[in-house]
Amino acid sequence: MSRNFKMVSNIVFGKNSFKQLNDILEQQRKNSDSWIVFVTDDVFKGKELEKRLPLQNQDMLLWVNVDKEPTTNYVDKLTQKIKDFKSYSPSGVIGIGGGSAMDLAKAVSLMLTNSGLSQEYQGWDLIKNPGIYHLAIPTLSGTGAEVSRTAVLTGPEKKLGLNSDYTVFDQIILDPNLLKTVPKNQYFYTGMDCYIHCIESLSGTFLNQFSKSYGEKALELCRDVFLKNDSNKDEKLMMASYFGGMSIAYSQVGACHALSYGLSYVLGTHHGIGCCIVFDYLEEFYPKGVKEFREMMKIANIQLPRNLVKNLDKEKLEKMITTALNLEPLWENCLGKNWKNIMTKDKAKSLFLQM
Ligand code: NAD
Ligand code: ZN
Repeated sequence: MSRNFKMVSNIVFGKNSFKQLNDILEQQRKNSDSWIVFVTDDVFKGKELEKRLPLQNQDMLLWVNVDKEPTTNYVDKLTQKIKDFKSYSPSGVIGIGGGSAMDLAKAVSLMLTNSGLSQEYQGWDLIKNPGIYHLAIPTLSGTGAEVSRTAVLTGPEKKLGLNSDYTVFDQIILDPNLLKTVPKNQYFYTGMDCYIHCIESLSGTFLNQFSKSYGEKALELCRDVFLKNDSNKDEKLMMASYFGGMSIAYSQVGACHALSYGLSYVLGTHHGIGCCIVFDYLEEFYPKGVKEFREMMKIANIQLPRNLVKNLDKEKLEKMITTALNLEPLWENCLGKNWKNIMTKDKAKSLFLQM
């Protein structure tokens, strides 16, 4: 049976479209007591963007720190802070930042209406009630978190998202001007997340015309951004992120994401840079993609960290391998139904030991 795919209901795109946020929120403010929570990356504290937030007196500005990727524990703490702020629920949760801040906004919106701890909902379709109206404003592009049906969280036992139709944002505002302040290396790492989504989706066994259509366009946009240094690169990367997200949503990612999850679970490596570190060793699975990736790396003058795994103790390496191999759909997408014959524990180990 074909999947019935939930999408973001409303989208605004355009330079300076951030200024439409106030009007959009007015529609959610049903009466004078209605309040909104702004889940905002604390990198913007004291910056221009803070002054532009359309905050009203009754609203809550909730700064979030993303030095570490979002954890279930952090989500539970933030949710409690929101519950303590007022005795009744907010009318909206706004996520402003990269994949981390957007995922935090998705997760708290869901945890405000679903009881218990967020770790209980790590998995597929475990969320019972729709969340609070949630809106995202990406300030960093590549993850596709603005369109996906997951909020990726690291929990006590696993790194796994809250995957559900309720997770999808009700509204997104795509303003390419917000990418202007992203540090150069971060721009590359998160941009490469998108590039790798495209390569993994387009060369996967789960590929279909829906994913192919989105993936091919996203790949073309990534090439304009990272090979041609296009003058409209921020606009292009923002759309590439969106299209790349749409592509994998109807297919799957592959070997690079599986291995990078292992790396990040054990070492805390961030998603974008983690994907870059891993992808550089996957020439045998994605020969053309890795070659082009290296070209992009050269143009952007990026040096990746090395020797992260070589001296790791046995137990941690084991955890890294099992975390990666547990992601069965990703391996099946990359290598087909008989993937277990190819990606053995020994093979995964030998790949990790090079990193
Ligand atoms: P991020 O959100 O972790 O941010 C990376 C850094 O960039 C942070 O220091 C942040 O403060 C800074 N930053 C963001 N916007 C900025 C701006 N405009 N100016 C200056 N600095 C800015 O990075 P990311 O790569 O976007 O997201 C990674 C996270 O997304 C991971 O937690 C990953 O698991 C998750 N993810 C989610 C999905 C999904 O579908 N939900 C998909 C892929 C990755
Ligand atoms: Zn990714």
